[in-house]
Formats: sequence, C-alpha cells, structure tokens
Amino acid sequence: MTTHEQALTIICPVCNAMPGRACTQPTDTSRKPVPWVHLPREFAWQQANPQDFFLTFGIEYREKPHPYWPECDPSGWVRVTAPTFESALDKVKARFGLEWSQLYPEPNFDRAKFPAGELMALP
Ligand SMILES: [Zn+2]
Repeated sequence: MTTHEQALTIICPVCNAMPGRACTQPTDTSRKPVPWVHLPREFAWQQANPQDFFLTFGIEYREKPHPYWPECDPSGWVRVTAPTFESALDKVKARFGLEWSQLYPEPNFDRAKFPAGELMALP
C-alpha cells in the first residue's frame, strides 16, 4: 500500500474527507475531488501507524568500544520504532550520534545477515 493509499483510509484533518473518499478542494460553488491527498492526512496516518526501522553498526566495533554504547555488537541490530524514516533518524542521532552504519526500512532489511539478532529496541 502506498502512503497515498494509506492516507485514504482515515478522515482528512484538512478537508474532512471520509475514509475511502478522495480529498477535496473548494470551487466557486462546492468542492471537487482531487487526485492527491492533503499532507496532514498522510502525516496523521503515519503518526497513528509507526513503523519498525533497523539500525546496524560498523565492524570496527568488534575491535573497539562504541563511544555511546559499550554493548554494541555489529552482528546484531537495534529496532527503532517511528512514524517516518526522518523521525527514526532523529531518534538514532539522539542515542548514537553518527556512530552507526545503516538505518533500514523493514522491507529492505535482511535479518539473516545479523545472527546476533535484536540487541535493543528504541521506542
Ligand atoms: Zn483532504
């Protein structure tokens, strides 16, 4: 489901379009449906449906301690739950600074490559 399709499943906070109905904009005499959705509708859906993202660390932390997390193990991951990639990134930077390798959206993450599994959850 695309972000657009997901947003259509809730009431629009801008134009009050009901779930399943297109957003509308005013005309001189009424309102007409539009092919796009109001961004606050997308944002509202994302806030109500946080996603999991997966953070990994560089192999240098096998040899040296991570500056902000001594238990860091590059064979595992940290699960970060957030409404958007950008908000997940903010949480990662607040906890680990720039001392990490990749932040993956769930569809792009291959758990099998990280045998130590989940090391921590960052809600
Ligand atoms: Zn709308």
